[in-house]
Amino acid sequence: MKIINKHYVAGTWLSSDSEQEIVLHNPANEKAYAIVKLADKELANKAVSAARSAFTQWSELGFAERAHYIANIVKQLHAHRNLFIDAIVEELGCPRAFTEIVQVDEPISAFEDHVQYARILADLYDGHEQVIDENLSLRKEAIGVCALITPWNYPLHQLIAKIAPALVAGCTLVVKPSEITPQTAIILAQAIAAAELPSGVFNLVIGTGSEVGSLLSAHAEVDCISFTGSTQVGKIIQNAAATNVKRVNLELGGKSAFVITPSKNLAEAVILGVEDVMCNSGQTCVALTRMLVHKSQYEEACAIAADHAKTLTLGAPDLPDTFIGPVINEAQFNKINDYISIGLAEGAKLITGGHTPTDEKLPGYYIKPTIFSQVSNGMRIAQEEIFGPVLCIIAYENEQQAISIANDSVYGLSARVWADEPSQSQNIARQLRAGLIFINDAQWHNAAPFGGYKQSGNGRELGVEGINEFLEIKSIVNA
Ligand code: NAD
Repeated sequence: MKIINKHYVAGTWLSSDSEQEIVLHNPANEKAYAIVKLADKELANKAVSAARSAFTQWSELGFAERAHYIANIVKQLHAHRNLFIDAIVEELGCPRAFTEIVQVDEPISAFEDHVQYARILADLYDGHEQVIDENLSLRKEAIGVCALITPWNYPLHQLIAKIAPALVAGCTLVVKPSEITPQTAIILAQAIAAAELPSGVFNLVIGTGSEVGSLLSAHAEVDCISFTGSTQVGKIIQNAAATNVKRVNLELGGKSAFVITPSKNLAEAVILGVEDVMCNSGQTCVALTRMLVHKSQYEEACAIAADHAKTLTLGAPDLPDTFIGPVINEAQFNKINDYISIGLAEGAKLITGGHTPTDEKLPGYYIKPTIFSQVSNGMRIAQEEIFGPVLCIIAYENEQQAISIANDSVYGLSARVWADEPSQSQNIARQLRAGLIFINDAQWHNAAPFGGYKQSGNGRELGVEGINEFLEIKSIVNA
């Protein structure tokens, strides 16, 4: 059994003396593989002090100099690539091929983009203000000490989407990753440590949300919280952060809609929608978990979806044919199975997947790709975030009704529109209340500012916009 007890504070690796620990189980076989020794409040306070002490020097460097450090980190991220892959396969049970491309290469590439963003900001702001008119000029300055709190589902991406822009902005950081994916975070800290940033600029403490997360949220010396996780915890953090009116950037849950208009490429659309939900075992905040299909193509779409889901291999993350691995842990496994029961009780029709009978269950937190038809948007399975491989297919009668169903959600993170005519897809996209809209088979774009409407959050990550989340604007009005 591994003992994981590494926290990075003021340029030094520290162990926690706290009695608090958690045991991690491999999602693929349920065997305990690690004990994580958790940071306590004392360690978290040390990290905040280190970040505070490092702030003035780091924030005054200028964007161009920080671009050099970002470029050094990128080199180290590439050097640590295989370590990240092994850690994510073990911690999350994510299939290896998906892990390589989506969980590791894409976030490294997103970090690399920040070298260019830093150079753009250097041209605009380093050594001079942006002149608006003869009396007014603007400066952009780092907001201060930032606490970055992240979840486990894309453990490297979530960290990088915050760390890269915050470092470019000139902020100093206390990072608290999910305590159930600590190895990915420690490898990232090792890569950043090897890039030789000034001591105290980057600090990592691995602790629970209830102890370390809540301390950081309310801490008087923390100027900004950037949080990715559930809407429920986001609300708690926003309240706690009110104590010193910190800036709060929230990236929260979702229940995204896929609006499929009557199309000659129905099968292509449905298959894409099914795979979108099932990848990463449905543990994706932007997953298109509500598929909206015109009534004229509804039965055909349901048949295509069920047939395709049955071809997706459920299995251990290291097997080459695996499309869906296990879900992260027992709590998530139970929660998803409860939602499958809720769907059945609500009268939705299970067209594939569902519960695995206890006598057929193998070790590992495996859930079959599950699809419900005859779902109405008011059902709990259509309104609440399940965070598992469960897709709801909903019929609509006309385009306006499809748009209202898509928008009838407390969430507004993402959506996809499928239409044969570009003018139709653009018209629908404009009416959807969500922060990221994909058209037809469009792919993830690292420069697209990412974030939600409504209870999916209130900030933006990635792209140059993502850096603005960590900057203050200073207006200088001249006589
Ligand atoms: P979670 O909200 O339970 O935990 C997220 C982080 O918050 C963890 O580091 C946890 O330790 C910490 N935390 C928990 N309680 C806290 C508290 N009281 N104060 C401060 N910190 C606290 O979420 P999770 O289960 O790790 O992740 C799944 C959720 O994350 C889903 O709802 C998913 O939609 C969301 N998510 C959103 C995005 C996005 O970008 N919008 C991306 C990925 C995941």
